[in-house]
Amino acid sequence: KLSERLTAVAEYIPSGSRIADIGSDHAYLPCYAVKTGAVSFAVAGEVAKGPYLSAASQVKKEGLTKKIDVRKGDGLEVVTPGEVDCITIAGMGGALIASILENGKDKLGEVKRLILQPNVGAFAVREWLIRNKWELISERILKEDGKIYEILAAERGEPLRPYTEENFTAEKFFGPFLLKECNESFREKWNAELLNWERILEQLKEAGHSEGTENKKQEIQAKILMTEEA
Ligand code: SAM
Repeated sequence: KLSERLTAVAEYIPSGSRIADIGSDHAYLPCYAVKTGAVSFAVAGEVAKGPYLSAASQVKKEGLTKKIDVRKGDGLEVVTPGEVDCITIAGMGGALIASILENGKDKLGEVKRLILQPNVGAFAVREWLIRNKWELISERILKEDGKIYEILAAERGEPLRPYTEENFTAEKFFGPFLLKECNESFREKWNAELLNWERILEQLKEAGHSEGTENKKQEIQAKILMTEEA
């Protein structure tokens, strides 16, 4: 059975899509999406040998080699321009997801939807989307096995539409949809972050004064204030 996290990613794939799942590991997501009929063709991309081999063996085991092409390579280099219209990248940090998109910009011409699931640092993904004229159309946050995950879906459009002028910084940090919804997983995630920052702040205070620690303290204090307000 597919995890709730990857099922939620799959739910954002438009029916009839041709997808590339980058960093596919075991290829569970493309296998599931092909089996449900949502996807007619998928590329499963992997940079590391072990995960690449595990993706290839899973696809073979499920008898899906005609519909899922497992390819080894870094980020979007495994994709030919025009080949897919939806890209999924799940289970990595937000900064890595943003760098994969940045390095693969020339492959995004025909891509209509991006579905991104950063484990941490979702704001780096939101920043990349804004800078590259992708509009965030939906977000989800969910808890599974004690961990909290965010999923961001984007299409080409008006990148600032989901944001407000007054609350732009906080919305970029927490997610405009997630901040508005403010569900239990959201509150749990940011309450845990608050405790963590407060602990770091205490440690920095004990460490004494230097330009570096002063900057770090201010940065953390700003995040604490923003989170308390949220
Ligand atoms: N997407 C799956 C999921 O969400 O369950 C697997 C997530 S796994 C934690 C992250 C995978 O991304 C690893 O298998 C890793 O090898 C792969 N990866 C990391 N950087 C990559 C890159 N630049 N290009 C392709 N794959 C990458």
